[in-house]
Amino acid sequence: MGRTMIPAQTPTLLVKIFGRDRPGLTAGLFETLAAFHVTVIDIEQVVTRGRIVLCALVSAPAGGSGSEGELRATVHGWAEGLGMQAEIISGLGDNPARGSGRSHVTVLGNPLNAENTAAIAARITGCGGNIDRIFRLAKYPVTAVEFNVSGVPTERLRTELATEAAVRSIDVAVVSAGLSRRAQRLVVMDVDSTLIQDEVIELFAAHAGCEEKVAEVTAAAMRGELDFEESLHARVALLAGLDASVVDKVRAEVRLTPGARTLIRTLKRLGYQVGVVSGGFTQVTDALAEQLGLDFAAANTLEIVDGRLTGRVTGEIVDRAGKARLLRRFAASAGVPLAQTVAIGDGANDLDMLNAAGLGVAFNAKPLVRQAAHTALSVPFLDTVLYLLGITREEVEAADAES
Ligand SMILES: [Mg+2]
Repeated sequence: MGRTMIPAQTPTLLVKIFGRDRPGLTAGLFETLAAFHVTVIDIEQVVTRGRIVLCALVSAPAGGSGSEGELRATVHGWAEGLGMQAEIISGLGDNPARGSGRSHVTVLGNPLNAENTAAIAARITGCGGNIDRIFRLAKYPVTAVEFNVSGVPTERLRTELATEAAVRSIDVAVVSAGLSRRAQRLVVMDVDSTLIQDEVIELFAAHAGCEEKVAEVTAAAMRGELDFEESLHARVALLAGLDASVVDKVRAEVRLTPGARTLIRTLKRLGYQVGVVSGGFTQVTDALAEQLGLDFAAANTLEIVDGRLTGRVTGEIVDRAGKARLLRRFAASAGVPLAQTVAIGDGANDLDMLNAAGLGVAFNAKPLVRQAAHTALSVPFLDTVLYLLGITREEVEAADAES
């Protein structure tokens, strides 16, 4: 048999059926068409609240207009008998190929309103994009829909939609279509205010009674006003003399971000490797890595001598540049090209890592970080990252049900 490409001048028919869904409809339509020995070129079927739209693109029957007329009458008769509407449109060849510049656009709303949906669609069209397909990824914990868009370069579309998203306080992520999205295999996360809701140094500071002083320095560092390493040393110095037993207390106080377990469990089941890099401390991140089954973890280490914190850190400092370096190291160790990595973080010290990754996700981040990252999430659920990767809620739940 030869290749089944349909020549552009071949007469074809688009057969569209619309109405209440019921078992056996698809079989019924194709049984009806089978009598005319047509070739199936394309099929799309969507069911929304019990209503089905079934489109079949088929070759026109051999035998000319007489046979085509007979096909039309037969399909209409079949559909009417079921209380369905049918439409049959003559044309030539296959669907036109999708334009170049293909992107996946994920829109998250909590809730997603019609006005924002209209604005996103208008922006896509306004910059020359064509919406080829739309479907829902999730209804929980937020509404997530994906638009498949062609005809406009991904970078251009990302810039256009980022502007719209910022104005409307919704989350929109634009990633290039193609194999790289399917090949993403390593996710690396920041810890403080990303994987967990807390800033670990502030938990330590509360035990040292210097909470406010530390919080001030942290905030300035995260806004990018202070060099991270300087601020780290300044804050850790405030902890000097604390009893080492405080480490266990802090570990017990850490609160995971909602959706963190779902995100990690789902990624692991889908074969991703997952790591954390933190400007915080190995005394806490190693325990988290163990508890969550992470593949990689790196952070600073609080020096403890004679059962007390010295107010110093030991080893290689994990700062802004260090986080990006560690992402590269984890990627090399996992055998994953950098372009196929995903990084998630909220602070200015995450920016190098977010930009080095194939997809950088600013998670409930400061404005500076939001603007510089590939994409931003402003809903407080970490599992919504899955939707940016094109993983649907149904897939998450199916993976849970299997184990
Ligand atoms: Mg952070």
